[in-house]
Amino acid sequence: MKRMTEIQFKAIKENLAKLMTMEDGFYHKKFAGLNRDTIQSQEDFEKLPFTNKDDLREAYPLGLQAVPDSEIVRIHSSSGTTGTPVIIPYTKQDIEDWALMFKRCYEAAGLTNLDRVHVTPGYGLWTAGIGFQAGAELLGAMVIPMGPGNTDKQIQMMVDLQSTVLCATSSYALLLAEEIAKRGIRDKIHLRKGVIGSERWGEKMRKRIANELGVQLYDIYGLTEIYGPGIGMSCDFECGMHYWDDYFYFEIIDPQTGEPVPDGEIGELVITTLRKQGAPLIRYRTHDLTRFIPGECACGMTYPRIDIILGRTDDMIKVKGVNIFPGQIDELLKEIEGASSEYQVMIDHLNGKDILTLFFETDPGYDKKQVEHAVKQKYKLKIGITIVPKAVAIGELPRSEKKSTRIFDNRY
Ligand code: ZN
Repeated sequence: MKRMTEIQFKAIKENLAKLMTMEDGFYHKKFAGLNRDTIQSQEDFEKLPFTNKDDLREAYPLGLQAVPDSEIVRIHSSSGTTGTPVIIPYTKQDIEDWALMFKRCYEAAGLTNLDRVHVTPGYGLWTAGIGFQAGAELLGAMVIPMGPGNTDKQIQMMVDLQSTVLCATSSYALLLAEEIAKRGIRDKIHLRKGVIGSERWGEKMRKRIANELGVQLYDIYGLTEIYGPGIGMSCDFECGMHYWDDYFYFEIIDPQTGEPVPDGEIGELVITTLRKQGAPLIRYRTHDLTRFIPGECACGMTYPRIDIILGRTDDMIKVKGVNIFPGQIDELLKEIEGASSEYQVMIDHLNGKDILTLFFETDPGYDKKQVEHAVKQKYKLKIGITIVPKAVAIGELPRSEKKSTRIFDNRY
């Protein structure tokens, strides 16, 4: 699992030298007592402590800043739904790099300077809107900087200005798609592509947005702590997301042990920035679940790939010593003929053993016993534990948009 290139290692060593010697700096304090000369390889580097969101919160407001004030041109902030927000300072170079990465994302989706990019993510402290805009401008496309809300105005502009690309969250894209269908104005819409922020969203939702808007959809990845959206992007082949390994070093770890998972296995994404100046981060835990996708992509881009975001580590539960999470079960059921996408998981503890019961709906016309058998076998094969499969008819399970409410842990 040799993943770190020499160029990446060199960049990391240079960063460490700078950050660990910076008087009162974030990593000077965090890594106090560590001798950076002992870091001679990828393995050594991967023994460094992780950086957590709480560390960033404690650095509020500007404790992360790693360059003099004169070099900082902007800040962004994470939404801070819980507790203290995180402030990320940017240098001019950071802003330029971010736009460049975003331009790459658009190019991966086949956008050109003739596209008209309708930007609905918010502007302001949050990073989204302005990132979408800067990348499109660098590409030479025309930006329609809408921001969120005001559906009437959105649709009017989309029609009058003939927007060709919609940038949105999945839920807002769905709302617009439904509104366009309701008004019967699909023939007045010129959209051909949708760039959707990679939160976890279901296959069904994806199909509905794509069909109702008549667009190809792309997943874009990013987080405020690390530039913002634009650090990874899916391509025409819809096989995960390419990420920019000249800007980042990615690791995928077992969220419980902190150890790297074998190649191709699902775990938590950990990111180290290679070029960031304003607020470089080392081994930052994203809490996003994904996996490395091996091999080359049919699109010809040589940037490595991770899977689209499969869930959050907070949704993970350990059963019989194995991590399980909703996205994994979605995916498994998708591969079974006769199994529908609705399911519920019950985890119980009986006679000293964990028991996982998977209720799932079956499509009409299939033999329930046969589908159960297939699910049980596939589960054992793919996830490694034996479960109790229970096939039920379509409509028998409660509906919920939130995947995390489908797993019920009755053990404690
Ligand atoms: Zn590709």
